[in-house]
Amino acid sequence: MSDALETFCHAMPKVDLHVHLLGAVRQATFAEMAARCGMTAAETEALYARDAKPKGVLHVLRTLEQRVLRQSGDLHRIAYEHLQDAAAHGVRHSEIFWNPTGTEHIFPYAKGADAILAGFADAATDFGVSALLIPSIDREATPEDATQLAEWMLAHRRDPIIGMGIDYRETDRPPELFWKAWRLAKQGGFRLTAHAGEFGCHPRNVETALDLLEVDRIDHGYTVLEDPALAARCAERGVLFTVVPTNSYYLRTLPPERWAEDHPIRRMPAAGLLIHPNTDDPPLHQVTPTRCWRMMVEDFGFGLADLRGFMLNGVRGSFLPEPARRHIEAAFAEEFDALAAECFPQGVLS
Ligand SMILES: [Zn+2]
Repeated sequence: MSDALETFCHAMPKVDLHVHLLGAVRQATFAEMAARCGMTAAETEALYARDAKPKGVLHVLRTLEQRVLRQSGDLHRIAYEHLQDAAAHGVRHSEIFWNPTGTEHIFPYAKGADAILAGFADAATDFGVSALLIPSIDREATPEDATQLAEWMLAHRRDPIIGMGIDYRETDRPPELFWKAWRLAKQGGFRLTAHAGEFGCHPRNVETALDLLEVDRIDHGYTVLEDPALAARCAERGVLFTVVPTNSYYLRTLPPERWAEDHPIRRMPAAGLLIHPNTDDPPLHQVTPTRCWRMMVEDFGFGLADLRGFMLNGVRGSFLPEPARRHIEAAFAEEFDALAAECFPQGVLS
């Protein structure tokens, strides 16, 4: 099964809706950029090391913002290389988070955004992969910083800048703190998504993001299971949860022998929730899109029909404009079925 599963997960058409630009830097590229500011190869290796109980990646992202990045061209390179790597694993479309607040001291929003979009355009030409950018609120910064981000987005509109997100550490930084930024972005026609219910945080954050801030989808969202009534409402509304199999919080807090059994990802579809697996910070999580999808089978026990459903959840919940989204949905379904017949002629993953 493992060879066929590898072939299948590698080749199946995929979107990635939850990946952070600064979490997607290749280790070799990080080392090269870090050398400019005097960091040693050993320091880079230590940052990229991931043990059985990973301590998370936020400190690496801060190192990039505060020490390593020097010019907007760095963002072009990171975006281009990430999309090259993703396309090599069958990713056809990616939606990528970027925190402009953390790099404003190096280059202004417009310059950074244009560099990333140039990277997207070059990757589309060279690798046939499409990408959309989601500038994201740094929730460890102030609400005023978030409002400023929304104002930058409104002042510098570009078609591939599709929506606004929020990330960094959720603990004690609930989404409503940033209501003004959300309102400005929504009034400006941007799509909205929010990291909520990560780090074991209260499911209220998922509820607030959906009901008060009116986000279109939820990133992570695992603790929604702690509030069955809320979970039922999310299922009824068809809210998409972009989940991350390699999420460090559960690797750190669940006992290794119970991790796969007790992980909320395993239980979310049974509660009627729409999920889609994503890579988050691929080199830092030591994951590829292929492995991300393999984990859904090997760790969480999902079958072929589940994978097909997750794939379609992702396309339907993407921020791609119509009719491109509908076209991709039909093409993905057809390609998935042909590939499944080839890899698994019995119709099951065995
Ligand atoms: Zn994330």
